[in-house]
Formats: sequence, structure tokens, C-alpha cells
Amino acid sequence: MNWKHELETAKTIARVAAGICHNIQAELVDPSQKQGREPVTVADYASQALIGNALAENYPEDGVLSEERSEEFMLLLNDNQRALVQRFVTDAVGGYVFEEQVCAWLDFGKQKHDAERVWIVDPIDGTKGFLRRQHYCVAISLMVGGEPVLGVLASPGFYSDEADPPDDPGALIYAQQGAGAYIEPLAGGPSEPIQVSTVVDPRAARLLTSYESGHTDISFFERVIQALGRGQDAPQRGLDSQDKYGMVAAGMGDVYLRVVPEPDFREKLWDHAAGYAIVTEAGGRMTDLHGQRIDWTAGTRMMNNRGVLVTNGFLHDDILAAIDRIGLE
Ligand code: AMP
Ligand code: MG
Repeated sequence: MNWKHELETAKTIARVAAGICHNIQAELVDPSQKQGREPVTVADYASQALIGNALAENYPEDGVLSEERSEEFMLLLNDNQRALVQRFVTDAVGGYVFEEQVCAWLDFGKQKHDAERVWIVDPIDGTKGFLRRQHYCVAISLMVGGEPVLGVLASPGFYSDEADPPDDPGALIYAQQGAGAYIEPLAGGPSEPIQVSTVVDPRAARLLTSYESGHTDISFFERVIQALGRGQDAPQRGLDSQDKYGMVAAGMGDVYLRVVPEPDFREKLWDHAAGYAIVTEAGGRMTDLHGQRIDWTAGTRMMNNRGVLVTNGFLHDDILAAIDRIGLE
């Protein structure tokens, strides 16, 4: 199967959406709080509305699983914030866009979760990083028959710790099943194939985890590090968003371990689908913490999987064995 058109569409719109996020970040961003205290900003809504517009125009029959909802847009944002979203969307599409249209694009495809083709969209992955001016990305994936077959990450601050320092070209990282994984500068330029690292010794592995301590169980993470026979000085880095997948896919990191503090927490699809498609195509491996394949068909969350382990493949079994020795709750 070939999803070239879909990949080009996703790359184009991810770039546009990341550009909008960058512009909004330059203005004052006041986050609102969603249920569960996750922040959401005008940039999340503008980005998702634009992605919804592109998908509705190109693939009107497809389903969409996306993070934001028009109901919350109307409820959580004040008049000024909604007008700002409307303005950014209007500027981007080049014609006046009514608020009702913004809402329709935000919700495009949401009734069709059981469709054969479902897009999985995080308009800003790492909103907390976006607010801190560190890592965030726009993440788009297409799932066909229950398997993510393409992934695109548009990441403005990929090479640094700040979101968008002037000397950081940012990255567009993408893959299509069977066609390899690639990276190119976010503003455009030559693409290069990417490949996971060849590190085989767990003691030499560069480990990645969430920046937000609430998103990962640091003490478990440290027990895994100890079980691998490593000291406190083991190279490890906390960063937001699916940039962690991009790093493993590009050989800039070796292991991304996500251990959620609450045993009942189940991961959301849009935090992983694009990254999975990319890292798999780059030669890496992703499973849950028991080594099981991810079930992408259980709704908006991975109801049948606990946690996430992403590696270059070579290190995967050693780390699963370490997790097994420690024991998961
Ligand atoms: P990260 O960028 O690794 O910090 O992950 C960001 C994602 O974590 C957000 O998009 C949320 O969907 C997700 N998230 C929210 N709350 C939690 C939680 N309590 N545990 C794990 N992940 C969470
Ligand atoms: Mg998000």
C-alpha cells in the first residue's frame, strides 16, 4: 500500500500548524485548564482546526481521533481567546472563517472512530513544554486497519532545549510504512533518511523520559537504571512531547521509557501513534512495559497496554527483563 498523498498532506499541514503555534507563542499565551488539569491554549485549537480543515477537504470519509473538542473550546475560552483562534485560522486559510466553522473543523471525523482509516492528531503534543518555551510538536498519524502506517512530527525546537531559538532549524520527521523514516529542516530543505542507533550495551544507553514528573514515575525509572547496572551519572534526559520518539528514531537517544505513576492510567493514542510509525520505520521497537504489542483499536486510550517502552530494538529485551525483575504494580 502507498500513502504518499496522505503523507504529503500531513507534512504540509503539520508545517503550517507548527508555524501558527510559533506565531502564537510569540504573543502572550494564557493557558486554560481542561478536566484533569491539562492545559490547553489558543494555539492547540488553531492548530487542530487547521488540521481538521485539511483532512475534511482531502479525506472527507476518514475518521479522526484528535485531542481537542469544540465543546471545550466554547466552554473554556473567553470571547477574546476564541476571536484570536478565529483570526489565526482565517489568516492561514486566506478567507474569513466563522466560529461555527472553527468548531466543525475541530470536531471533523470524530463520529467515525470505527472507520477503516482514522487520523490520530495531537495539535500540540507537549503543551506544557510549549508554555515553558521548550519542546513541543505537532503530531499527525494515519491508522489503517488498526495500525498506524504513517507518522509526521513537526518540531520547532528539535535540536535544542528551547522551543525555537534562532539557530535551531527545527525538524520535520516523518515515515510511511515500508518507505523509511526521514528528517528535514522544518522550514524546508533536503531530507535525510534516519536510522536508530546501534548501541547494544544497556550501560551505555542514552535514556529519555518525560520532563514533567507528573507524567512519569521517576523512582521506577531510577530502579530500572539501577537494574541495568548503571550509576547515577547515566546519561538521561527529560523532554516533552514525541520529540523523544524522534530522538530514538534519529539515533540521538536509545531508550524512551514511560512509566506512569498511577497504575490505572492508560496512554492516549495521539501521544504515541505518529512516534510509533516513525520509530518502527527507523528500525526501532515499541511495546508496552510487559513487552506486548500496542493495541491501537481500544478507543482514544491504549486500554490494553500499560506504559510504553521505545528502543533502538537492540536494547529492548534487556530493558524488558530489567522491568520484569523489578516487577510492575
Ligand atoms: P510528555 O510530553 O512526555 O510529558 O507527555 C505529554 C502527555 O502526557 C500529554 O499529552 C498527556 O496526554 C499525557 N498525560 C497527561 N497526564 C498524564 C499522567 N498523569 N500520566 C502520564 N501521562 C499523562
Ligand atoms: Mg496536545
